[in-house]
Amino acid sequence: MLQLWKECEGAKSIAISGHIRPDGDCVGSCMAAYLYLKKVMPQADIRVILEQPSEIFSCIKDFDKIENDCQTELAPDIFIALDCEKTRLGEAVALFDKAKKRINIDHHISNSKGCGDVNYVEPTASSTAELIYTVIDKEYLDVEIAKAIYIGIIHDTGIFHYSNTSPKTLQIASELISYGFDFPTLIDETFYEKTYVQNQVMGRAILESIIFMDGKCAVSYVDQKTMDFYHVTPKDLDGIVNQLRIIKGVECAIFMYEIGVQQYKVSLRSCKYVDVSKVASYFGGGGHVRAAGCTMNGSFYDVVNNLSEHIEEQIKEHEIG
Ligand code: AMP
Ligand code: MN
Ligand code: MN
Repeated sequence: MLQLWKECEGAKSIAISGHIRPDGDCVGSCMAAYLYLKKVMPQADIRVILEQPSEIFSCIKDFDKIENDCQTELAPDIFIALDCEKTRLGEAVALFDKAKKRINIDHHISNSKGCGDVNYVEPTASSTAELIYTVIDKEYLDVEIAKAIYIGIIHDTGIFHYSNTSPKTLQIASELISYGFDFPTLIDETFYEKTYVQNQVMGRAILESIIFMDGKCAVSYVDQKTMDFYHVTPKDLDGIVNQLRIIKGVECAIFMYEIGVQQYKVSLRSCKYVDVSKVASYFGGGGHVRAAGCTMNGSFYDVVNNLSEHIEEQIKEHEIG
């Protein structure tokens, strides 16, 4: 079993980073690793470098210490890549390349080998935050670290709801809540709560959604014009794909938003049998069996057609078999 403090022993500088468009697991695991290592090695220069996460995560201690600018002249002794592989690090990849030692902790099935010198990639784990819990020395665990790990777990499991939730996930969660933070508020404020305008955009996306493949597939998208009209950014679109997934009869949900001319960020979710990681990987993305993503080019209809081909193949296979 990997022990984070051992892997970092003697390091003077450590850079911690995760994927672009950071989600709850990415922010939670980066901050948990940061808070833990700060405690274990108070003399070391430890930084978290991430694209600016949503303000909902500002309840995590030292959230304001997150750096968005990657000081590329730095060459850290250790670079810790969390919840992703090298290709999704964004600008921080410059530091990854220069670091003396790289540690990769992840749970994406599409990150099969790991990209570090030291790798801990466990696709059966609910979240990277769950893995952070297993690699830290529990003596140092405190309420702030527990909270950051808990946030990571709840976000990637949809509050212990998705099939990636295991008995181990719940055992860890039970340990974490024993530290006494206000988890009901945390769940409301970081997961369920949406601003009025976020609800409006979601309502519109659902209203304009299309179901096809005999109601087994649901798709919707939000274009840049709509995002500008409501003054929303991609962070405001969280949850839409899940709302599409829970339409009765739907097996696979597709949600996309425009990120450039004829370019979309695609989110895929499935309920029981479609392996969306396989679909996303085919188009250069990745993720998990029930939740995956990729970036695709073309018109909305091109993208839907290309995705459908692969989804339909799996649905047919399932129906025959
Ligand atoms: P999303 O739909 O962006 O919420 O992503 C669903 C899951 O797939 C998350 O675990 C992401 O980290 C992962 N994912 C999304 N996009 C990609 C990508 N381009 N490459 C690899 N994994 C991805
Ligand atoms: Mn993530
Ligand atoms: Mn994750």
